[in-house]
Amino acid sequence: MSRHVGAVKRIALIAHDNMKQGLIEWCEIHKDILAGHSLCGTGTTARLIREKTGLQVKAYLSGPLGGDQEIGARVAEGHLDIVIFFSDPLTAQPHDPDVRALLRIAQVYDIPIALNRISADYFISSKLFYSDHDYEPHIMGAKK
Ligand code: PGA
Repeated sequence: MSRHVGAVKRIALIAHDNMKQGLIEWCEIHKDILAGHSLCGTGTTARLIREKTGLQVKAYLSGPLGGDQEIGARVAEGHLDIVIFFSDPLTAQPHDPDVRALLRIAQVYDIPIALNRISADYFISSKLFYSDHDYEPHIMGAKK
């Protein structure tokens, strides 16, 4: 079944602690574009982006307290179009199982997920980002 992706994208923003500054900078650079979309994020990331850029970002719980799981649930329920997750590849995370669960569920539902800044740059440069379109998701295990 095809998925309708609206012109206003529902975007989750997440960054591990060492990567938060980078995500805030990225949001600042693309602030005018991001302001036209529906943003949410894990608790601390959402709060910092709001404070530093003025963007409206709905906050879920902090990542280590279940925020990644909440965002994963939103993906599974079909309420998110894009996940931008600046994850830290060099630091062990106490909530690594939750992080892996989010990545897995994004793969299962064929949701675009940017794990670093250059991927996020590619997303925001994509014509798909600016269009209202139907997409045939390649949902793993889905019955045809
Ligand atoms: P935070 O969570 O935005 O609440 O810090 C992010 C994470 O570590 O997954």
